[in-house]
Amino acid sequence: MATIFTAWQGVKGRIEAALQRPRHGGGEVDLLAVSKTFPAEAVRELYDAGQRAFGENYVQELVTKAAQLVDLPELAWHFIGPLQSNKTRPVAEIASWVHTVDRLKIAERLSMQRPPQLAPLNVCIQVNVSGEASKSGVTPELAAALALAVAKLPRLRLRGLMCIPEPTGDDERLTAQFATLRQLKEDLEREGLALDTLSMGMSADLELAIQEGATMVRVGTALFGART
Ligand SMILES: *Cc1c(COP(=O)(O)O)cnc(C)c1O
Repeated sequence: MATIFTAWQGVKGRIEAALQRPRHGGGEVDLLAVSKTFPAEAVRELYDAGQRAFGENYVQELVTKAAQLVDLPELAWHFIGPLQSNKTRPVAEIASWVHTVDRLKIAERLSMQRPPQLAPLNVCIQVNVSGEASKSGVTPELAAALALAVAKLPRLRLRGLMCIPEPTGDDERLTAQFATLRQLKEDLEREGLALDTLSMGMSADLELAIQEGATMVRVGTALFGART
């Protein structure tokens, strides 16, 4: 108990410290606890400490863990992994958020499959800001058209943009990629979309992301330890 709780306090302290420094944008920064590969018991421990938003990357793992934790009424699942069109239904039924919408077909299926008794599914468009061929996400050039189309879908609520920058320790490159996402969001706001979310920043780079305007950081390792 002490370990996860201490780690959680530590990450919240890092976020608070980053908020004291000059940054783009304002307001609060939400912490998404990325629990992929860690057991339901670890999620329960953090929930008992007060954490409510948890991120998962794999559909089957989300389904299993959600069933194990169905007794936690305020737990909100965020899906943050690559999503294939034949796997959208359980995500539409379980998740409160999907951060990784990168094509219209996925968004259309999520909208169609979102159960009517639930609130609209919150979504972010994932943008490939590093240009790496291996990375999912829509290109920055196509992001606006996709966002405008997704915003029209009835059972989704477009909240903003998400990125995973290239894995590098080069702060300037990271900063430039986070800034690209922020500028895209500002462009979309000028086109009339009401967006409140920039999902960017992980264990190693959350301070840089907050400086560039992140409103939600997705943290796994710094909370739960290294994944095997
Ligand atoms: C695993 C993962 C994270 C968490 O990364 P850490 O470096 O462990 O904090 C954040 N976002 C996405 C999309 C991930 O897949």
